[in-house]
Amino acid sequence: MSDCLFCKIIDGDIPSSKVYEDDDVFAFNDIHPKAPTHILVIPKTHIPTLADVQDPALLGTLMDRVNHIANDVLNLEAGYRVVINVREGGGQEVFHLHAHILGGKKLPF
Ligand code: AMP
Ligand code: ZN
Repeated sequence: MSDCLFCKIIDGDIPSSKVYEDDDVFAFNDIHPKAPTHILVIPKTHIPTLADVQDPALLGTLMDRVNHIANDVLNLEAGYRVVINVREGGGQEVFHLHAHILGGKKLPF
């Protein structure tokens, strides 16, 4: 989608600090980290919010890659948090579906 920030990051039109990419997802450092490790994992398909997902398999793939990135790329053995904000009331600011991976310290609830 041409006016989407995260689509532009996937396409390389806006720079990012990439940590992982495959055919299905792209992952990069959050520009305003809220934990020592704060990564965003986004599907390469433009879907505005979690509530807009039509294909359950897409969520399976997204969560599979979140686990792979957290465990095998970031080595977050002590644990991590996965957050998906949905719409403005849920704190969503960028309307391209994304999962936050937060880790690197003990996280308060
Ligand atoms: P959300 O509030 O769930 O929509 O999360 C959007 C996240 O995108 C926020 O944590 C921002 O810090 C992050 N963000 C916004 N612009 C960029 C960017 N250009 N590169 C990396 N992260 C960004
Ligand atoms: Zn997009």
